[in-house]
Amino acid sequence: MNIYTDLNIDGYERVISCENEKAGLKSLIAIHSTKLGPALGGCRMWDYKTKEDAITDVLRLSKGMTKKSALAGLPLGGAKAIIWGDSKKDKTVGLFEAMGEFVEYLDGKYIIAEDVGTTLEDLRIMARKTQYAGSTNGSGNPSPKTAFGVYKGIKATVKHKLGLDSLRGLKVAIQGVGAVGKHLAFLLFVDGCDLIISDINDVPLKELEYKIDAKIVSEDEIHKIDCDIFSPCALGAILNLETIPQLQCSVVAGCANNQLLVPEYGLLLKERGILYAPDYVINAGGLMNVFCEIGQVYNENKVLSLIENIPSRLLDIYKRSDETGFSTNSITNFIVEEILHNS
Ligand code: NAD
Repeated sequence: MNIYTDLNIDGYERVISCENEKAGLKSLIAIHSTKLGPALGGCRMWDYKTKEDAITDVLRLSKGMTKKSALAGLPLGGAKAIIWGDSKKDKTVGLFEAMGEFVEYLDGKYIIAEDVGTTLEDLRIMARKTQYAGSTNGSGNPSPKTAFGVYKGIKATVKHKLGLDSLRGLKVAIQGVGAVGKHLAFLLFVDGCDLIISDINDVPLKELEYKIDAKIVSEDEIHKIDCDIFSPCALGAILNLETIPQLQCSVVAGCANNQLLVPEYGLLLKERGILYAPDYVINAGGLMNVFCEIGQVYNENKVLSLIENIPSRLLDIYKRSDETGFSTNSITNFIVEEILHNS
């Protein structure tokens, strides 16, 4: 049986924990805002060290989803879920059915999707117990669309920073070649980029080895590579006081959520002359993909036309950042506040 507890946390509409001992489920759903519509966000399965780490992660991620939906111009709010466990050994049908019941308990205020550690197959199991499981009604795995949006965003960022129309010959260091990173690597390879990749897991590296030419480096080295573009596609907080001085790139642009450890570090990147593509603008392609199946028949062309908005949104942010001296992520936050205030 699921046991629900409301954790009243300031600044969030609802944060609920769910425990089901029999199913082995320990989970949290944070609904940051439903001001623009039902809150959509992925479900991360991760073996957190402490409960506090799990709460911090779900709060940060859910807030990011409110911003991402608002900036993408979608009538959606922001939320996120976490399942506390090891995605390599703790997955069971019972666990995901219990998670589905948790989502259903929220009565449509939250729509669940994939994130690190969960897959479309896991969502299909949840969908046995809830009508609010995204990606299960035609849109499928959102990762290729996220990668396509990041690819389009990288092109716009390079155009703004380096004045180039083509990525051919540019050196790109990709941190993490999982569901999104591997698709991005492929798109960049086809476009003629010189790739350096890293992952803590050998399996995706081996999978890519047969498809593309890329130099593999260790996870400690990847962000220090002398390159044009550093693309964080693993976990958050990679841009911090230790790593920022070590970067040797002109552009940081990748899919990972919450790349900056704290927002203030956006200015450190600007001061170093590095153009940072705010994560929740450039990585919105997957969200757009899931959105295009909610209450409608999934239409891939509609997703692709929404993704076309990512480069123009980024260019607008870069222009305002140049004009005002604010970091690109601060400008992004101002725009979100404007949108939420006027809605
Ligand atoms: P994933 O788990 O499939 O891939 C992440 C990869 O990064 C894994 O292969 C993992 O082994 C690797 N990794 C972890 N730590 C690393 C490190 N320190 N150095 C190098 N590699 C490391 O996840 P994903 O779905 O590709 O998502 C990647 C990031 O993008 C996450 O932050 C996620 O929240 C974000 N994101 C994903 C989507 C999507 O559509 N999947 C959409 C928006 C944002």
